[in-house]
Amino acid sequence: MGVSGMRFRSHLLAAAAVGLALYPRAPWRAALTILSGVALDTDHFLLYALRSGDWNPVGALRYDRWRHHPPRRGDTRPRYGSLRSVAHEPQITLPLVWLAALLWSPLRPVAVGLTVHLALDLHLPHYDWRIRRRARGRCERCGIAGVPLEVHALVHPRYGGRRWSAHNYALWCTACARAVREARTSAHLPDVPSPECRSAEEETASKENVWNRRQV
Ligand SMILES: [Zn+2]
Ligand SMILES: [Zn+2]
Repeated sequence: MGVSGMRFRSHLLAAAAVGLALYPRAPWRAALTILSGVALDTDHFLLYALRSGDWNPVGALRYDRWRHHPPRRGDTRPRYGSLRSVAHEPQITLPLVWLAALLWSPLRPVAVGLTVHLALDLHLPHYDWRIRRRARGRCERCGIAGVPLEVHALVHPRYGGRRWSAHNYALWCTACARAVREARTSAHLPDVPSPECRSAEEETASKENVWNRRQV
């Protein structure tokens, strides 16, 4: 959804910084830049509401938090697939909106805001040279060299992991990445646990332990 937490804040801050830098003397244009930089994510909400029939933003946020977790046994809640609309495809949105802005200049702040938003969504840790330099061509888990290595988030930014911090990423070989994923799945942990998720999991786990002890 991106309406939640970190992503909303980073879109807001980046659009505000760019809007105020470009239009220091035109508050309405700056405001329009900020609004466009933030409002693009309402497409996720609209798609959710149309598919689920639930127009309550709280329900949408709850669904957003839940949907990134791998399915658990007995959980039959419906999933609504990808909630990215075509507006989130930069190769479609950007040429259209910039063409419109060239023809009609009042649209320029909108084009700037949308560009900032899509640029932020396009975070590519795979090309983060800080992680690659730190790893020196070796898997940071098992140390193997000379095999394909990929950058993985330790805690995904959607779950509160730090998007721009190299400490939140590691360069792993395919085997290590699979091992980590399997360990997370078999522990019934969400793939990328947030602090809240983790404490909820721990709570459930400790309740289960109490239950098991009673059974014995
Ligand atoms: Zn977005
Ligand atoms: Zn490895």
